[in-house]
Amino acid sequence: MEIFEYLVKNEYEQLLMCHDPASGLKAIICVHDTTLGPALGGTRMWNYASEEEAIMDALRLARGMTYKNAAAGLNIGGAKAVIIGDSKKDKSEALFRAFGRYVEGLGGRYITAEDVGTCVEDMDYIRMETHNVAGLGSVAGSSGDPSPMTAYGTWKGIKACANAVWGSDSLARKVIAVQGLGHVGYALCKLLHDEGATLYVTDINEDNVMRVVKDFSATAVKPEEIYDVNCDIFSPCALGAIINDTTIPRLNCCIIAGAANNQLKEERHGDILERKGILYAPDFIINAGGVINVCDELLEGGYNRERAIRKVETIYENVKKVIAIAQRDNVPTYKAANTLAEERIRVMRQVKKTYLKAK
Ligand code: NAD
Repeated sequence: MEIFEYLVKNEYEQLLMCHDPASGLKAIICVHDTTLGPALGGTRMWNYASEEEAIMDALRLARGMTYKNAAAGLNIGGAKAVIIGDSKKDKSEALFRAFGRYVEGLGGRYITAEDVGTCVEDMDYIRMETHNVAGLGSVAGSSGDPSPMTAYGTWKGIKACANAVWGSDSLARKVIAVQGLGHVGYALCKLLHDEGATLYVTDINEDNVMRVVKDFSATAVKPEEIYDVNCDIFSPCALGAIINDTTIPRLNCCIIAGAANNQLKEERHGDILERKGILYAPDFIINAGGVINVCDELLEGGYNRERAIRKVETIYENVKKVIAIAQRDNVPTYKAANTLAEERIRVMRQVKKTYLKAK
């Protein structure tokens, strides 16, 4: 792997390999872009099959955060960290504190948070070594579990899609198929049910299914059958890559809008959706509620829930903006979402350059 070639091609700022002999920490921190501000992105703990896989994951996820944060209108850049290890066996105070010291060493260029395989307790250990961590468990004024805000933002984004397709935000009597009933999926089902939507739901966890069936009068379908549900909206809230060559021919919906990350297996699947006339709400636009919420912690005076809610609500306008760009440029929505992020970064780079020149 030609690392510098890859960094140059995709405009990465920094890739840091961290090794702490005492705790056994092996971590990679990737700062993709700090044009808009310090770069924020969670720390993932995963048993990677190879170092190359871990590096690629950090690189890919960091760039994704730049786009997500920029498009959400946040004044932060994009980064991500990965810790190589088994999150069930290899966690320790020493490991996370060692990681925290590496974060501290970046002097505020990187702010971490939780991600797959890490939790608020791990963030508390990191906090013992650095202030550059958000989403803490024990500190007063922290933003807490981001999932309800992710669900809230996703709900707003679904309404924007409904408005674009049917001319009304209302989801009453709309048939919505939800895949994945975990932290985000459950909270989203509640919002949809409260509004009068009819829900078809699935999960590989039987308990999660039973809970949603009981609480929101939803109809359960088998995990494989969710793609065949005749519905108005398909809402993926479980895994990535579920929009692919196998599933697209089975989909019977007008809108795809859900919280799962990396829903399109490949970009070309976004092109196919456009040709089929299915409106796709790009994942990093519609699922930004969590990061918007966590970022509020970083603002002066600390976390303010009302302010965070107001900011999460802008996802509605953002989805509309993406749809407008797609129409303006005659491109699929996933490309329009990239344009929204890239335009903001380009303008801010220009502003910075002009400012530096003037100085
Ligand atoms: P979660 O782990 O709480 O829930 C995921 C659910 O999906 C689980 O109940 C799991 O059993 C189910 N699932 C897994 N495989 C499945 C399959 N094949 N078919 C049906 N169900 C399946 O995770 P979450 O926090 O609710 O996040 C859901 C998605 O949203 C993920 O893709 C996540 O990356 C994304 N996301 C979450 C947040 C957040 O704030 N939690 C923010 C942005 C994006």
